Amino acid sequence: MKIIRTILIMSIAIAIASPLRGTAEKKGKSQFKFLTEQFADAKILRYQVPGFETLTLQQKKLVYYLSQAALCGRDITYDQNFKSNLLIRKTLEAIYQDFKGDRKSDDFKKFTVYLKRVWFCNGIHHHYSTDKFLPEFTQAYFATLVKETKKELLPLSPGQSVEKFIAELSPVMFDPAIAPKRVSLDPGSDMVLKSASNFYEGLTQAEAEKFYNGMKQDAKKNKLDTLIAHGLNSKLVKENGKIFEKPYKVGGLYSPALTQVVSWLEKALTVAETPEQHVVIEKLIAYYRSGSLTTWDEYNIAWVKDLNSLVDFVNGFIEVYGDPMAMKGTWESVVNFKDVEATRRTEILSKNAQFFEDHSPVAPAFKKKTVKGVTAKVITVAQLGGENDPTTPIGINLPNANWIRKEYGSKSVTMDNITYAYDQAALGNGFLEEFAFSKAEIDRSTKNGHLAGNLTTDLHECLGHGSGQLNEGVNADALKNYHSTIEEARADLFALYYIMDPVMVKFGLVPDDETGKAEYDSYIRNGLMTQLVRIHPGKTIEEAHMRDRSLIAHWVFEKGKEKNIIEMVKKDGKSYFRINDYEGLRNQFGELLKIIQRITSEGDYNAAKTLVETYAVQVDGELHKEVLERYGKLNIAPYSGFINPQYTLVKKGETITDVTISYPEDFAKQMMFYSKKYSFLPVR
Ligand code: ZN
Repeated sequence: MKIIRTILIMSIAIAIASPLRGTAEKKGKSQFKFLTEQFADAKILRYQVPGFETLTLQQKKLVYYLSQAALCGRDITYDQNFKSNLLIRKTLEAIYQDFKGDRKSDDFKKFTVYLKRVWFCNGIHHHYSTDKFLPEFTQAYFATLVKETKKELLPLSPGQSVEKFIAELSPVMFDPAIAPKRVSLDPGSDMVLKSASNFYEGLTQAEAEKFYNGMKQDAKKNKLDTLIAHGLNSKLVKENGKIFEKPYKVGGLYSPALTQVVSWLEKALTVAETPEQHVVIEKLIAYYRSGSLTTWDEYNIAWVKDLNSLVDFVNGFIEVYGDPMAMKGTWESVVNFKDVEATRRTEILSKNAQFFEDHSPVAPAFKKKTVKGVTAKVITVAQLGGENDPTTPIGINLPNANWIRKEYGSKSVTMDNITYAYDQAALGNGFLEEFAFSKAEIDRSTKNGHLAGNLTTDLHECLGHGSGQLNEGVNADALKNYHSTIEEARADLFALYYIMDPVMVKFGLVPDDETGKAEYDSYIRNGLMTQLVRIHPGKTIEEAHMRDRSLIAHWVFEKGKEKNIIEMVKKDGKSYFRINDYEGLRNQFGELLKIIQRITSEGDYNAAKTLVETYAVQVDGELHKEVLERYGKLNIAPYSGFINPQYTLVKKGETITDVTISYPEDFAKQMMFYSKKYSFLPVR
């Protein structure tokens, strides 16, 4: 699971006397440019990698090899998101590279923005809403651009004329009715057919469900491995009336890219830090070669056990947000190393995991009797890849397999250099001032917001996702299309409940209850109001994390009306939400956590559906309009993506003597470089 940034700014001030701020201060070399450019609804940031220089040569080589592996899978993500993505991207890049006309003309600027959006979203659908976005230039202009481009640069199929090529591409790009949505979660429709993502071909949702139910039953009957995440690493197709899987593996689907990934992993194997890490990399290579999900589980278990390596990484088909059936993993990678000093905070949480589990408001039957191996660390991200690049989560908790989490534990990370970059880039952009009700609220957020945000992420990742247990016989995917929203809400509620607990002060994690209050302020503000800046007028809320936040905020707002726990206040014609009773609000979070844990433990699909459809999806049109107007005046792009650092080998003869790091500033240049160097897949 990943936690993503949905609150636009947690804090605006960085000079806070938090015990961890010291590390970040060192990162804040004053001249570093965090924000490089803004287009459409996106801005491009850079992140620093403090501490890279102090790694040993062996560790630097490891980071380098794993970074290369992270980049080699880039095209897989594009293809999984939508089958025409690579074809379109390569065409746009050919035009971009070859165009001899006026690059400053309005039309070409619009063309460039479209291409940047495709890079930003790993395809032609919005990375967040999953709606297809349309070019702002005309079809006629596109046709002219294609015709002006050298033919040998275009990805024509054999014998295809340029005219036919244009006719093939144009509707896919310009017709809003074709592949309008990457992930459709509308329960009233065939979600497989309605989703443009490239995980199923030629079959219906019912056929896919039947196929996997049959597979699970077969596994049981034949005493095969019943724990594996069926379907995680394959495309399901129907060809000539037969339904079968095409596994992603060396020799299977995506073989050219996976072969490259494996070759870099083999190099990484030679510089593994610990015997445990050696096993991890070995298992991953074996998995990419065989496509065996049993090996994938073995890899995950080995990965959970590898606690002593400073450098760590994620690489694989992992998160299932891109599949309406929540089965198929989208390819991703993150390379990182531990921020030892900042990890102190999460170690306190991990050490006390059992305490938190025992004292949560959840019904005893749904609690884990023993919470195993909840480890957590603060990491410094060194490279993003696949689904995590350019838009990245700010925390990850893996593996996703519930049985592994229960038996072996999981690893949770928060990405401090990423959140730091967010906060630096947001300094003084006016957002908090516009939407916070009072000066006191602004001051509280300014003083406590960064710590509140980081601590919430830690609680969510280290404890929230790992808490609770399913009843015997309940399937992990029983909540189907509501699974992700309910799961994220569960983790959020766990964090919200505990951040205001006096035990936080006792453990030395916060100085007083102002941190919790700052988090409550921003959570309610965001869930009821400010996250709407990400929704287009007339649309509903779709993305799981946004639904989760909307669900929680609306539920407590509704249920607390009688006691006036949260009040909607009008001031100078503007709407605000003010919390009148923080303790009361905390109790409500506990109450909802209890409900949501029951739904999860029992796999109660209907209750999940009612909760989500009642509180999480709909948008108050009038408030939405107001929020968009207020936000529009601030001129802030709501989404952020990152430029990766660049690593370069220093060699003496054939011997690597050092790895250096530099920080490119040009997003388009990096994307073109990646496309040139790391494209291994056919476009059709
Ligand atoms: Zn989460």
